Amino acid sequence: MSSNAAESFNAWIVDCRSLPITRMVDMLRIKLMNMFVTRRTDSVAAINRSERRIDEFVDYYFHVAAFRKSYEEVIHPIPTSMRLEYENSANFDILPPPTKRQHGRPKKRRIRSRGEQVRMIRCGRCGKLGNHNKKTCKESLV
Ligand SMILES: [Zn+2]
Repeated sequence: MSSNAAESFNAWIVDCRSLPITRMVDMLRIKLMNMFVTRRTDSVAAINRSERRIDEFVDYYFHVAAFRKSYEEVIHPIPTSMRLEYENSANFDILPPPTKRQHGRPKKRRIRSRGEQVRMIRCGRCGKLGNHNKKTCKESLV
């Protein structure tokens, strides 16, 4: 029973989760794009260091030849694409799926599994041993 991937993802997006949906999607897009750029840069650097051609690592479907081959045949438009016909087309409303939302604000911290060990850490702010750090410290220092 492991949900490490989901937990890692949730930890990665925790600062986005409180945002309105459009800003959340936008921030996730930016996070993903930054990650892809970093990985691509690392990959290109590794390939260059190996003294192999970068073309060897690009799939055939991303080559110009494959793109040209995709469009060498005539693509006919679908004749009914502008006006799709449905039975009872006057009553055709797409409704959202039925959902039951819990009351209150969604929890940000996950519920720990039974028997899960919590590592004790020392807070850099109040100096107490526990499960909080300088950032999450709620001790009031006078
Ligand atoms: Zn503290």
